[in-house]
Amino acid sequence: MEFCGGHTHAILRYGIPSLLPPTVELLSGPGCPVCVTAATELDWAIALSKVEGVILTTFGDMIRVPGSGGVSLAQAKAEGADVRVVYSPLDALQIARQNPARRVVFLGVGFETTAPMSASALLAAQAEGLENLYLFSMHKLTPPATRAILDAGEVALDGIIGPGHVTTVIGADAWRFLPDEYGIPCAIAGFEPLDLLRAVLALVEMVEAGRADVVNAYARTVRPAGNASAQAAMAQVFEAVDAEWRGFGVIPASGLRPRQAYARFDAARAFAVTVTPAREPPGCRCGDVLRGVLSPPDCALFGRLCTPQNPVGPCMVSAEGACAAYYQYGGR
Ligand code: SF4
Repeated sequence: MEFCGGHTHAILRYGIPSLLPPTVELLSGPGCPVCVTAATELDWAIALSKVEGVILTTFGDMIRVPGSGGVSLAQAKAEGADVRVVYSPLDALQIARQNPARRVVFLGVGFETTAPMSASALLAAQAEGLENLYLFSMHKLTPPATRAILDAGEVALDGIIGPGHVTTVIGADAWRFLPDEYGIPCAIAGFEPLDLLRAVLALVEMVEAGRADVVNAYARTVRPAGNASAQAAMAQVFEAVDAEWRGFGVIPASGLRPRQAYARFDAARAFAVTVTPAREPPGCRCGDVLRGVLSPPDCALFGRLCTPQNPVGPCMVSAEGACAAYYQYGGR
């Protein structure tokens, strides 16, 4: 299983499966941050965008994902909400500086890759004494989700391709639990075709030798201990909390929220927004896709009722979504 949605896209774009023998099957995992964002959190963000005076800032991927009522942030924007696409939380910081009379909320979506940037934005806001910047943290941690897949035992995995960008931050040693506790080999991969083939080769060699280890096949970027300053920023600002993942339910200690010292920046605590418990889009099987138990083309809506132009679920919207990858490159 490749954890990362970026890997799924690269694997299909470069036709990697066509180069592999039938004994090697690659399964897409839960590594698409937009896709694993729970529908309730998305509904909360959409409701927040409609609060008087709020400027909601978000990465572009989130804006087209439909909430449980079928409404997206794009539709909320069309109806008058001030929703702005940014490329970094530091853009949200700048918008907050420029609009001191408005409350500016950044939707923190992503794994350990983007969480340090959100932490940096809050550290900068605190240093400046900025009082109108808020973070709605939907950040999630990748090792707990990997444990959840293995503990559930729904898919029999022989090896895991570790996420290259996440591991640049958390370090290859963070995946030691895979061989040590589960006896599963892990190979950290980059995003070029040869990176992925190297990782597959490393996994096959370990399986054939009956050995489980962590192989760093992305050593030009990934270090054993990762990026110390990014980890320090995350540790200073965030604490781990239980978090809901689409398709999984609540995974213990798999989310990040601002610590008490940074609570005044926490949109979840600062805004009294309530939403009713969300339901998934009817017929959408994103949850099964994210857990690796369903291949996207096996969803009854795939390519017919659900396309990138008219997506039903987030796995078809996101640039890292498995359904979008199969739609763009599958079968070619
Ligand atoms: Fe959901 Fe569409 Fe993927 Fe089916 S094809 S699982 S409806 S996103």
